Amino acid sequence: MYSLHVSKEGVTVQEESELVGKGNFAVIEALEARLGKKTGILTIGPAGELKMTAANISVKDPDSKIRSHGRGGLGAVMGSKKIKFITINDEGAPGVKIAEPEKFKTAARTFAKALLDHPVSGEGLPTYGTNVLVNILNEAGGLPTKNFTIGQFDGHDKISGETLHDTIVARGGKPKHGCHAGCIIQCSQVYHDKDGKYLTSGFEYETIWGLGADCCIDNLDDIALADNIMDDIGIDSIETAVMFGVAMEAGILPFGDSKEMLRLLTDEIGKGTPLGRILGGGAGSVGRAYGVTRVPVVKNQAIPAYDPRSVKGIGITYATSTMGADHTSGYTIATNILNVGGFVDPLKKDGQVELSRNLQIATAAVDSTGMCIFVAFPALDIPECLPALIDMINARFGISLTGDDVTNLGKQVLKTERKFNIEAGFTKEHDRLPEFFKSEPVAPHNAVWDFSDEEIDEFWNF
Ligand code: SF4
Repeated sequence: MYSLHVSKEGVTVQEESELVGKGNFAVIEALEARLGKKTGILTIGPAGELKMTAANISVKDPDSKIRSHGRGGLGAVMGSKKIKFITINDEGAPGVKIAEPEKFKTAARTFAKALLDHPVSGEGLPTYGTNVLVNILNEAGGLPTKNFTIGQFDGHDKISGETLHDTIVARGGKPKHGCHAGCIIQCSQVYHDKDGKYLTSGFEYETIWGLGADCCIDNLDDIALADNIMDDIGIDSIETAVMFGVAMEAGILPFGDSKEMLRLLTDEIGKGTPLGRILGGGAGSVGRAYGVTRVPVVKNQAIPAYDPRSVKGIGITYATSTMGADHTSGYTIATNILNVGGFVDPLKKDGQVELSRNLQIATAAVDSTGMCIFVAFPALDIPECLPALIDMINARFGISLTGDDVTNLGKQVLKTERKFNIEAGFTKEHDRLPEFFKSEPVAPHNAVWDFSDEEIDEFWNF
C-alpha cells in the first residue's frame, strides 16, 4: 500500500508497510510521532483496506481523536486505490485570501450571532449533542426500534441526550466540543468510562439510536465502546448499527446482546473473517446473505434514525436522495418534528414532497460551501442568517451571488448527481422505500408508508 503527503511543495507518494493493517488510532499515534502533532491526517482502518462497503475515511480532529467521512463507502474507494493514509502539512502555505476582508468580517459576525441565537444550534446541540433527539423522536413515535418494527423504545431514557449529558459531566468528560477549531456550535462531546478514562467522542444520535433502540441495547457504555471500536476499524456507525438490527433479525445474535455485538465488531469485522466481511458490507449485505425481508435500505444504503411511516417527509428524502437513504440531504425532521422553518404534519402526506425538495435544494447549495449542516436551523428561522452566508461567499471571492443564484446552484448539484446515477444504471424504481413500510403499520400511530410511485416521482419536477 501507499501513502500520500501534501505540502506547499506539492504531493508525494510513498510506499507504506509499517502501518498497513493497523487501526486508525494506532495510525494517528504513529504518524504524530513520525511527522509532528500538527500534521493533518486522513486514514482508513482495516475496513477500508478490506474494501468493505461500509468503510469510512477517518480524519484526525484537533484533539487527535477521530471524525469520519461516513456513509457511501468512501473508505473502500481509498482502499481500492491502495492508499492507507494522506498527510497534510500546511507549514508556509499562503492561506486563504479574502477579496473584501471588512465585508467578510461584518457578514461573519451576523452569521455567528444567528447561530448562537437559535434555540437548536445555540442551546440544544451544545448542551445535549445530536442525541437530544432520542427522547424527541421517541415521543413522536418515530424512533425506529427492534429493526424498524416499533416507533418507541422502552429503554429510551437510559440512552437519551439528557442521560448522556449527565453521565459525561459526572465522569469529568466534555459535554461540549468542536470537531474543528472554528466551530461555534460545538455539538460534539468527549465521553469517559466509569473510571474517568476516554471512551469516545463525536458520539452521535444516529449511532446511539441505531445500536440502542434499533438493536434494543440500553447500555450507553457498551454503545460508546462500540463507537470507539468502529472509529478504530473505520466503519460507518449508521450502516453498521442498522446492519446489526438486521443481523439480530437473522438470528446471528439476539436483540439486546451488546457483548456479542462488541465481539462481532472486534473479532469478525475488525479481522475481516468471512462473516466479518458480510457484516462489513452493511444492512443490505446481511439481508441478502441471510434471506431477511425486513431490510431498511434505499439504493443499498441503510435508512437512518427516523421512521418514514410516522415522519413522512423524511421518507421522501430517503427515497429520492441520490446517494441512497440519507437524512442529511433534506432534513425534514426540522419542519416535521422540531417546528423549524414552519410546521408540516409528519403523519400526513400534504406538503412533504415540496418540503423535501426545498430542503434538498437548499442543502445541496449549503453543502457546497463546506458549512456544517447544523447552520440550517438558524438559516430556516432567522432572516439575516442565509443572506449573511451569501455575503461571506461574495466577500471571500469578490463576486455578487444572489439568493436565486444559490438556489440554482442547489438545483444544478441535484440534477448533476441524478444524471450520474441514471448513467450508472439507476432508474426511478430505485427511488422507493422497501415494501415492508407499506404493509407493516408501525406503533404507536399505526402509520404506513402510503405514497404512490407517481407522488414520489413528483420530487424531480423542478
Ligand atoms: S462543525 Fe458541526 S458537527 Fe462539528 S462540532 Fe460543530 S456543529 Fe458539531
